[in-house]
Amino acid sequence: MGYKVNRPEFTLAENAYFVEMAKGIGVATKHLVENLASRKHTVTREYPEQQPEYAARYRGQHRLMLRDDGRARCVACMLCSTACPAKCITIQAGDYGDDQVEKYPIKFEIDLLVCVYCGMCEEACPCDAIRMDSGVHAAPELHRAASRVGKVDLLRLGELSIAQQGGTFR
Ligand code: SF4
Ligand code: SF4
Repeated sequence: MGYKVNRPEFTLAENAYFVEMAKGIGVATKHLVENLASRKHTVTREYPEQQPEYAARYRGQHRLMLRDDGRARCVACMLCSTACPAKCITIQAGDYGDDQVEKYPIKFEIDLLVCVYCGMCEEACPCDAIRMDSGVHAAPELHRAASRVGKVDLLRLGELSIAQQGGTFR
């Protein structure tokens, strides 16, 4: 059994199309002029010039922590990149070249457009080397490649870790 939809009949003016088109252009022009003259009715936030109020517990994007001597705490163990569900961490391990057994990251890159900010990398790290508490909101980028933050930028957000190498806390 079919169902009949009762549609209103179009008037001659509506069927003529041009009258309705002129009405639509009139509404659009009115809003354009209003928005050019005043931003009173504009609800769009002018980010990043206008920063939003962040929640008290907002933590922000990743940072890489430093040792007392300024080197990265990261030992390139790959636990964070293995735990990452988005597979957006790229690490290239290097050797210090002396009698130290630890490695370091020659390259440490996070693709922030792929990251889902789950915090699994931070949870997985045994060295307190990566944290998500910088308080920095990743800035919008014009180009895809610019969303990949590298070791230098991640270390710049870092500071001395409260954890000592070996797992004890000061
Ligand atoms: S926050 Fe989650 S998705 Fe983002 S890099 Fe860390 S583990 Fe990967
Ligand atoms: S940040 Fe932590 S988990 Fe990731 S490679 Fe470095 S030491 Fe390992």
